[in-house]
Amino acid sequence: MTDKKDIENKEDIKAQRYKERQQKVKERIDAKIAAATKEQGVFLVITGNGKGKSTSGFGMVTRAIGHDKKAAVVQFIKGNWDCGERNLLQKLEVPFIVMGTGFTWETQDKELDRQAAQAAWVEAKKLLQDESIDMILFDEMTYMINYGHIDIDEVVEAIANRPKMQHVIITGRGAHRKLLEAADTVSEVQSVKHAFESGVKAQLGFDY
Ligand code: ATP
Ligand code: MG
Repeated sequence: MTDKKDIENKEDIKAQRYKERQQKVKERIDAKIAAATKEQGVFLVITGNGKGKSTSGFGMVTRAIGHDKKAAVVQFIKGNWDCGERNLLQKLEVPFIVMGTGFTWETQDKELDRQAAQAAWVEAKKLLQDESIDMILFDEMTYMINYGHIDIDEVVEAIANRPKMQHVIITGRGAHRKLLEAADTVSEVQSVKHAFESGVKAQLGFDY
């Protein structure tokens, strides 16, 4: 029969092992933190089929402006959608450009879509040359690249030549291979399930 003392000993051993393990974890992490010394703008791509790409991008924009940084947004799709983030950020005087005609899968005029994408891209390039902008979000840009409305090589070059400390975030499904190669950080949001599949329509304040 195990008495109370035995149990206490076992617990002590467990606690000691836990402490040792955590100490090793801490050492590994501290070493990585010590090795990461570069200060630079980060180019982030958030892609994949799951929900959370745009909200993540907008989360970083609010994080930046919460630190009194200057951020700007160019949205390459859904121009006519009521967008909660746009309503908020415009109140805070964050530059927010929406692609002219409001590209959706419903428009069928390729030339009009191309022109709208190009017009937004012209504004995007200006931001990529503006030292005063600390962070730019190019929301849903991947589609315009994949449709060939915006040239991928031009995008990669403009991002490579941006101010050194400027952060750039691109969101959208199916990010082009060259974007993934150029990016410093790439996150892929995977869909495990989505309410839409069980008939729930897009909810105001939650989905847009
Ligand atoms: P969010 O804006 O919520 O972060 P997202 O940017 O990751 O979503 P998009 O591909 O831009 O996703 O799609 C925007 C809209 O489509 C949102 O209303 C979102 O809820 C919905 N959506 C996202 N993922 C899925 C999915 N796997 N199935 C169905 N609808 C989705
Ligand atoms: Mg999105």
